[in-house]
Amino acid sequence: MLTPLIIGNWKMNNGIREAADLVIKLRELLKGVDSVDVVIAPPFTAIYHLSHLTADSPMQLCGQDIFWEKSGAYTGEVSAEMLADAGCRYVILGHSERRQRFGESDATVNKKLLAALRASLKPIVCVGETLEEREAGAAISRVTAQVRASLAGLSGSLVKDVSIAYEPIWAIGTGRTASPQDAEEVHNAIRELIYEMFGTHSARGVRVIYGGSVNAGNIDSLMSQPNVDGALVGGASLKAEEFARIVRFKHAAR
Ligand code: PEP
Repeated sequence: MLTPLIIGNWKMNNGIREAADLVIKLRELLKGVDSVDVVIAPPFTAIYHLSHLTADSPMQLCGQDIFWEKSGAYTGEVSAEMLADAGCRYVILGHSERRQRFGESDATVNKKLLAALRASLKPIVCVGETLEEREAGAAISRVTAQVRASLAGLSGSLVKDVSIAYEPIWAIGTGRTASPQDAEEVHNAIRELIYEMFGTHSARGVRVIYGGSVNAGNIDSLMSQPNVDGALVGGASLKAEEFARIVRFKHAAR
C-alpha cells in the first residue's frame, strides 16, 4: 500500500499572520501523525515564513504553480528552484482554476512538470472532466488524454515522484463530490494508463488522489476505495479541525 497523500490547497487565501495561526493549530492537531504525507499549499507570500513553523511537524510545503524557466525576464513568475529554495517539497500543476482562468494547457503543464522534477519538487498533476464531458460518457477518455499529454517525455526513473489528482471540475468548490465508485473507476483507469506508459515497476509508487469538495464527512468512504491514495482538499483545508479529521481518515475497507 502507498503512503496516503493529503494536500490542503489554500488557493488565494491567508496572509502571513492568518497562515501562521492556521499552521500553529494544525501542528497541535496533527501531533503523532506519521503514516500519512500531509502537505499544505499556501500562497507564495507565506511559504518561507511557514517553512520555519512546519519544521518538526508532519506538514510539508507545496507551491500552487510554477513557471518552467529557472530565472530571467518573466515578470510575475516564480520558478521551481525558487519554491524549493523557500522550503517547498511539492507543487500543484494544472489545477482546473489555472486551466480555465489562466489558459493552462496540457502542453504548459508538461513543461512545468519537467521543470519541477529538475528542481526535485514532487509534482501533483491535476486532471478532470467538465460536467458536459461526464454526461456525454467521456470522463475517462478526457482524463486519460490529459494524463498522457501532461506526462509526455517523462523518464520512467522520475515518474515515481509524480502524483495525479483526479478533480472533476463540476465537483470543485461546489459541494458536489464524485461518488466513491465513480472516483474509483477513473482512478483505476489513470493507474492502468500510467502502468502502460512507464511499466508497473517504475510507476507503482505513483499516487492517484481525489479532489472535489472533500470534507470530514466523505473522506472515509473515498479513502476506502482501493485506487484512491489520498485527497486534494480546497475549502475544507482552511479549517484546522476539519483538515485534521481528513488527515486522520479511517480506511477500514483497505
Ligand atoms: C481544490 O482546490 O483542488 C478543490 C478540490 O477544492 P474544494 O475542495 O473546495 O472543492
